[in-house]
Amino acid sequence: MTASFIKNSDFAAFLTAMMKAAPVYGPVAKRSRFAFARLEAPEELRLDYDVTILPPKKLFFPPAQDLLRFDSDGFEAALEPEEKILFGVHFYDVKAIDQTDLLFAERNCDINYIAHRQTTTIVASNVQTVSKRAFFATVGADVPAKGHDAALTSIDDGYVFEPLTARGEALLKFGRFAPATEAQCRGADKVNADVLAECPEKLEHGTAAIATKVRAAFKDEELWSQLAADCFSCGSCNTVCPTCYCFDVQDTWHVDQTSGKRTRYWDACLTEDFAKISLGEGATENFRDERGERFRHRLMRKAVYLNPKLGGPACVGCGRCSAACTADIADPTRIINQIMAS
Ligand code: SF4
Ligand code: SF4
Repeated sequence: MTASFIKNSDFAAFLTAMMKAAPVYGPVAKRSRFAFARLEAPEELRLDYDVTILPPKKLFFPPAQDLLRFDSDGFEAALEPEEKILFGVHFYDVKAIDQTDLLFAERNCDINYIAHRQTTTIVASNVQTVSKRAFFATVGADVPAKGHDAALTSIDDGYVFEPLTARGEALLKFGRFAPATEAQCRGADKVNADVLAECPEKLEHGTAAIATKVRAAFKDEELWSQLAADCFSCGSCNTVCPTCYCFDVQDTWHVDQTSGKRTRYWDACLTEDFAKISLGEGATENFRDERGERFRHRLMRKAVYLNPKLGGPACVGCGRCSAACTADIADPTRIINQIMAS
């Protein structure tokens, strides 16, 4: 599909027209940081954001999501997906959504995730400000960003808008677009290439070499114990991660004791209870009782275990975990570079 161009002066009208047609969610300021939220006015959109506190997966896989309601007559799905536009997603988060698309669709297809995903048009936007802990340029560099419906890039006097699907192309009717010139397309390509050099952190080795050496370090209990020595087991590194997708399911009963609802909540493998199971009669077993075991599990999931299925690492280099960790020990680049250097 051919790229189009919209002037800066026409951009607010484009957003306003879209917002009249469907809810538009995009990055907005939240005190000194940013979050994806429903836009109430076009000027709220902050395409100059560095990284959002939570990833946009929360639109398809919310932190708490009702799955079904039940009573004495049976149960019904609690699915209420809305047609919406998710606007301004950075390419690393597009990659993460592509991963969760695959993981939630395989085997027992997760109809709750898929229903929310299928009703969402995703517009990516270029990274205008690089977060202080980002390393998206050196992780899974050969994995393309895909699955979005259009890509928007800010250049000098406007935006190059590249539709990638029919859903993306349908957005053109909301704005005063003109065909993008070759010079404007080249300008957009340069903007997207140049930003890669601005990542403050980087992995020193490629995906395959990292997977081999990190896996080989599995049995080095002392290493993992040292790496996790300051870990609070808070799970923040999981909670903010765009590629984490574990959840817990709980039933809530109403006072009538016959009706209620089933809800799933984000879970976190760094927390102490994550791998704890009941053995009955009050006895329990925890498969990852030690902090080092949990810390290792996260790294193995990000750099090793899922690679064959995903075609690359289960990390997109957003740096959210590094920034969210109070003890500042969660940064994958420091952990992996240390293991690679040993
Ligand atoms: S592991 Fe950290 S850097 Fe990698 S995708 Fe998750 S939050 Fe981002
Ligand atoms: S590594 Fe950091 S963010 Fe993750 S559980 Fe430990 S203290 Fe919390």
